[in-house]
Amino acid sequence: MATYKNIVFFGPPGSGKGTQSQFLAEKFQIPHLSTGDLLRQEISSKSEIGLSIKEKIAKGELIDDDLIFDLLSKKLYSKECEGGFILDGYPRTLSQAHKLCDFFESINKSLTGFVHFNIDDELLKKRIAGRRIHRASGRMYNIYFSPPKIENKDDITGEDLYQRSDDNLETLKRRLEIYHEEEQAILDYYNQARHKLVTLDANRDVNTISNELTEKLMEKIKLQETMDNEN
Ligand code: AMP
Repeated sequence: MATYKNIVFFGPPGSGKGTQSQFLAEKFQIPHLSTGDLLRQEISSKSEIGLSIKEKIAKGELIDDDLIFDLLSKKLYSKECEGGFILDGYPRTLSQAHKLCDFFESINKSLTGFVHFNIDDELLKKRIAGRRIHRASGRMYNIYFSPPKIENKDDITGEDLYQRSDDNLETLKRRLEIYHEEEQAILDYYNQARHKLVTLDANRDVNTISNELTEKLMEKIKLQETMDNEN
């Protein structure tokens, strides 16, 4: 069977999933699928779905499971994901984890690695309040830790950066509450498949995390190839 890399990133907002996704997507040549980005695209295009979810997102509440999966599955079943993907922001509930498992069964492939970004809540406050994004490319900056060369401008295009409407301390509090409510159930679920689980100390600097992440995922990819060849 051809090699594929089906990777899931799980962690609280601001834990570095987006940044690591960008590195890894390039390294492994697989697409980065962020459910948050898919939803924000709906909002920017002012679609019916976008209008219906705008308020919930601004408050940090979760969007309905079926709606998310409808949006996501169009991507998951697309040709660009045949060699794998990095899924960032999904699953966030146990029922989403079950849906994802059903998806893998339906394509007769398996999850390669489930990465848990473990980080202290206190550090997230600065990461979230300082986060700035270049809309067109998704490039991310942080005014405290990795500022752009010119204030509020993208280093490459010089275009303005923006701050997400839900990246404020009040909404972060709610987003963290929701994350911690579901966290243990999701980890227990993926613990059952222990050989898929990668736990990262996400309190460290970007490069250290990136190196360790690549190394640990390479092990999972080799393991998956061995198991697929045996079947
Ligand atoms: P993110 O960009 O991953 O921080 O997601 C931003 C917001 O989109 C979240 O606070 C939720 O409101 C919504 N969202 C993203 N992914 C999901 C998901 N898997 N289930 C429900 N809501 C989601």
